[in-house]
Amino acid sequence: FQVPVPKNEPVLAYAPGSKEKAALKHAIEQARAKKLDIPMYIGGEEVRTDKLVRLAPPHDHQHTLGHFHMGDASHVEQAINAALGAKEAWANLAWEHRASIFLKAAELIAGPYRAKLNAATMLGQSKSAFQAEIDSACEIIDFLRYNVAYMTQIYADQPESGPGIWNRLEYRPLEGFVFALTPFNFTAIAGNLPTSAAMMGNTVVWKPANTQVYSANILMEIFKEAGVPDGVINLVYVEGPVAGDVIFKHPQFAGIHFTGSTGVFQNIWKTIGENIHRYKTYPRIVGETGGKDFILAHKSAHAKAVATAITRGAFEYQGQKCSAASRAYIPDNLWPDVKKYVVEDLKDISMGGVEDFSNFVNAVIDEKSFDKIAKYIDNAKQSPMVEVIAGGEYDKSKGYFIEPTILLTKDPMYTTMCEEIFGPVLTIYVYQAERFEETLELVDSTSEYALTGAIFSQDRYAIELASKKLANAAGNFYINDKPTGAVVGQQPFGGARASGTNDKAGSMLNLLRWVSPRTIKETF
Ligand code: GLU
Repeated sequence: FQVPVPKNEPVLAYAPGSKEKAALKHAIEQARAKKLDIPMYIGGEEVRTDKLVRLAPPHDHQHTLGHFHMGDASHVEQAINAALGAKEAWANLAWEHRASIFLKAAELIAGPYRAKLNAATMLGQSKSAFQAEIDSACEIIDFLRYNVAYMTQIYADQPESGPGIWNRLEYRPLEGFVFALTPFNFTAIAGNLPTSAAMMGNTVVWKPANTQVYSANILMEIFKEAGVPDGVINLVYVEGPVAGDVIFKHPQFAGIHFTGSTGVFQNIWKTIGENIHRYKTYPRIVGETGGKDFILAHKSAHAKAVATAITRGAFEYQGQKCSAASRAYIPDNLWPDVKKYVVEDLKDISMGGVEDFSNFVNAVIDEKSFDKIAKYIDNAKQSPMVEVIAGGEYDKSKGYFIEPTILLTKDPMYTTMCEEIFGPVLTIYVYQAERFEETLELVDSTSEYALTGAIFSQDRYAIELASKKLANAAGNFYINDKPTGAVVGQQPFGGARASGTNDKAGSMLNLLRWVSPRTIKETF
């Protein structure tokens, strides 16, 4: 059995008149026309309850897509039992079988499910066609293909043996079950967190964000069709604290694979600590949390490149990426040009529903997010330290729309320079071009988070200096490129400090967290 050398899935263009565009339009129309009835999946069974939660597109909240069935603590218990019941057979299945299942899932997404999954991500999470394509098509396919390849490399790595001695390392799965708690902002991450653990022989309880249930459900359909056995991945919809209450008290809790907010992750870590005496083994805690990602321009940078990085890095998917640029440090010699270019760029950008493929900006995920972001904008408008350079308007009458907003502040410590907003708001601080080194200190000392960051410069010494001084300020560091859009197999993704445990998604480092190896020495 030869695992194919993985290749990144090409991003389709959805050009006017293209087959893929027609297929996607058709999938969107179909999805809007029918009413979804989304069950949980426990032990391979569809589970329905009498608690229905309505689903609506964030950009058109009066339209009902359908509903999902909300579970309670008893469903979490059932899911744990199903995962534990499926464990032995799954762990003992030869890795080649597990590999073939996930490779098949990748092919199903690349082919027959591509339009359906993209349509769900577009309607359910308000992603543009392009943002959906790079997420719920390419990135999830890449995660599956590359992780399978990394898995085979892990298993192949064996210790030395000698005459009369046979040493081996068995990459066993963790003892117990793994909990995958996944975010709304990437369908690919939601799919990667359960599958990367499952690939290594673990069985999983998966709880997606309530705002991502639509595409999560289609992923689950795909996993089933690909041959993931019953009970290996169990998909439950419950409120976070309900899941936590059952899971973190369970003696067989073996690990959590998490992407979400820093606050939630810290609470989870604390809860796990409080319950540590209950567990059979020390649980693995793997999390990617927030970001306050920067763009720093040196005086030698190209103003146009910086402006494009701001527009794309801060506003694609409405800034709802952990990697999104949300603060920028621009030298005074470049500022007039950077300002001119971003203002021009933003004038050309249209905002609206995902059904019109020409809209660059769609809605933010829900009302709670909308209100939180709007409050930051209102406060900024009232602050004498801040000027609104672009955007600043918002409207939730039809959908949760917020204009791409650029703030300029005289105070590098102003709240929106420091706090994560998770929306289309970027704050700029203009520094004196000669004070580059001090600005590096400033960026590092205000990087409570350390997920992504970008330096723009045509000067090699400045690039080198920034790379050294900001070594701990960003787990993904970009030179002359925007800080978003990491590609699996090319830029393993993750950061430290308040951004997470830096176990790079889509890498061998991550897969190694899901094994508990046994060393065997045999003499003869
Ligand atoms: N991997 C994504 C990127 O590079 C961000 C993931 C996230 O938002 O959690 O843009």
